[in-house]
Amino acid sequence: MSGRLFKANNKPNWCPGCGDYGLLSATTKALGNLGEKPHETVIVSGIGCSSSFPHWTTAYGIHMVHGRALPAAMGVNMVNPKLKMVVVGGDGDGYGIGVGHFVHASRRNLNMTYMVMNNQIYGLTLGQSSPSSQTGHVTLTTPEGVDERPVNPINLSLAAGATFVARAFTGDSKHLLMIIEKALQHDGFAFIDVLSPCVTFNKLNTYDWFRERVYKLEEGDHDTSNISLAFEKGLEWGSKIPIGVFYQGSYPTLDKTDVVVSNKIPVDEKLGIDSFKVSKEEIFNEFR
Ligand code: SF4
Repeated sequence: MSGRLFKANNKPNWCPGCGDYGLLSATTKALGNLGEKPHETVIVSGIGCSSSFPHWTTAYGIHMVHGRALPAAMGVNMVNPKLKMVVVGGDGDGYGIGVGHFVHASRRNLNMTYMVMNNQIYGLTLGQSSPSSQTGHVTLTTPEGVDERPVNPINLSLAAGATFVARAFTGDSKHLLMIIEKALQHDGFAFIDVLSPCVTFNKLNTYDWFRERVYKLEEGDHDTSNISLAFEKGLEWGSKIPIGVFYQGSYPTLDKTDVVVSNKIPVDEKLGIDSFKVSKEEIFNEFR
């Protein structure tokens, strides 16, 4: 099935060259390649440039408040685990205000794919430092350079219990597509830190900067079942930046262990309304 099925007619309003185009294109393609259907797919986002993502697809979409994409997605997932769940956002959204939800979604092993378009800056609000900005990076809010160390999303999700942890780069579309397809096929919480350059406000971490540094884990002898090795690789950042799958394991997903949802899928439950006795108009009238 073609990825075109997932492409909306309206076009993204991102800056020309923004890394987020690459993720949008690869995601729609991956969903199409895997035979997913827009009416059975839900894409949930937070707030930020990247979070307008669901508007540019034909899947169902929820554009949530800042940092709250994962809890909204969890609600949908627990009511109807049969839907394909994709959650997207930026580094400010996912590694800043929403970082608590990231930890809990990882440990709960929610059955969904979470992709963070990590541009290491706040783009929508014109270039402030974000939780993943490099130490020393001069930004609008850090004229003397960032003092703090950046969050390490790979090791954070590993420590929290995510069962699929990967990194990809929007400058390598073939590799990105391969990683997304693997994540979408994973049974459990699949997290991808997507290096997605902000061409307007981040003049440090550019496409060229990443091209000089990224290397593919699968081209070496990396063992994705070895969590200790994954932690070790997760610490690499600087002159060499690994991309690919760091870790893949298995653990029951929350919808399979939750005592309520695993017994009866809520969306399949009858609402308890006798359709012969209660008309649609009567129900509407109650809410007027
Ligand atoms: Fe992309 Fe940056 Fe433009 Fe936002 S400001 S659309 S992140 S290039």
